[in-house]
Amino acid sequence: MNVLVLNCGSSSVKFQLIDPVLDEPLGKGLVERIGAKDAIVTYRSRGKSAVREVLEISDHDAAVRRALSDLLHQDYGAIRSQTEIDAVGHRVVHGGEAFQGSVQITEYVVESIRSCSKFAPLHNPHNLRGIQVSMELLPGVPQVAVFDTAFHQTMPQEAYTYALPLEVYKKLGIRRYGFHGTSHRYVAGVAAATLGRPLAELSLITCHLGNGASVTAVKGGISVETSMGFTPLEGLVMGTRCGDIDPYIVLYLLETDGMTLESVDSLLNKKSGLLGLSGVSNDMRELLGEAELGNANARLAVDVFCHRAKKYVGAYAAVMGGADAVVFTGGIGENSAPIREKICQSMGFLGIEISAEQNSAHAPNISVGRTPVLVIHTDEELAIAQDTRRVLGGS
Ligand code: ADP
Repeated sequence: MNVLVLNCGSSSVKFQLIDPVLDEPLGKGLVERIGAKDAIVTYRSRGKSAVREVLEISDHDAAVRRALSDLLHQDYGAIRSQTEIDAVGHRVVHGGEAFQGSVQITEYVVESIRSCSKFAPLHNPHNLRGIQVSMELLPGVPQVAVFDTAFHQTMPQEAYTYALPLEVYKKLGIRRYGFHGTSHRYVAGVAAATLGRPLAELSLITCHLGNGASVTAVKGGISVETSMGFTPLEGLVMGTRCGDIDPYIVLYLLETDGMTLESVDSLLNKKSGLLGLSGVSNDMRELLGEAELGNANARLAVDVFCHRAKKYVGAYAAVMGGADAVVFTGGIGENSAPIREKICQSMGFLGIEISAEQNSAHAPNISVGRTPVLVIHTDEELAIAQDTRRVLGGS
């Protein structure tokens, strides 16, 4: 079964055509800077060379059309006919409390995604646009929604409830939802396979460390606690997001510093995190390089990032009564040995001790202690394709 996986963001569309039984996508591309005269399209079919073009892409409709024409291109495309696309799997950021898993898209599902747009105004409307465009362009092809929030719907009430008056939750839906669920679920499954143990028996701490970052406690295969909250702003230090702060800081900035709502929003989401602390970059590679050269602010950014992550690993071990393994994934988690080393330092009390050689080789298991520490490549697109096939009852 060939599944077209679509991830529609505010100004980009990522797409892959995947047969979940193959180890590489049939075709994979990215349309960036949608709305600009100089949008960038990159595309590559399995076994063929990559193509890149700069051109005007006016909107998401044009971007999805372009994705289809790349997949079908007679020279560099992956398929000859649109009928070779059996299903479409969409990444949808927010499913609220309506979705505990992936679902085939119906009118009801479209309406529910629309009603969750109030929680994710920067994401859901674009996800929805992608759904509408692909329904028009691929009539009759079944479409499936895979939600970032769905995996975390299993969290117990004490984990998802903020200690605000309960009315606030009941009236406004303000609670912890959690994100990156597709990635946490995927790496938890791979971890169980790597360990050769049933997922149902394991307590895992999965650390997705990328530009966005979150930690999840996965017990018996389900999410029981996660660091992102009502929005993806809570929890770990991220590329440009602050993660946990005292909520009164927001009021203080508004009242005392005279900032506007928009400027506080931009401060917390776009100017904080690694970028804000270092004043240099949101890219961990650059920060590690700068820190090596003696840049104290870059060093501090790295230290705050690792300290925060370590705190969550310890907390989640406490929540689950121990951990059978810790998993590192995401751009930083998969590729940065110094960051893994710093997070795992002085964690011998949890059986977490890593080998310097295995760590610098990014080995699948870098642990020499009793608790495996796994480095696992996350593949959210593959997870979306697998879900799409499962939801549609395909083989
Ligand atoms: P996103 O959340 O946008 O998907 P990624 O998971 O791709 O982000 O992660 C991006 C982050 O991974 C960047 O901070 C980048 O610097 C970091 N990264 C990638 N490779 C390395 C590396 N070899 N060493 C350190 N950090 C790395």
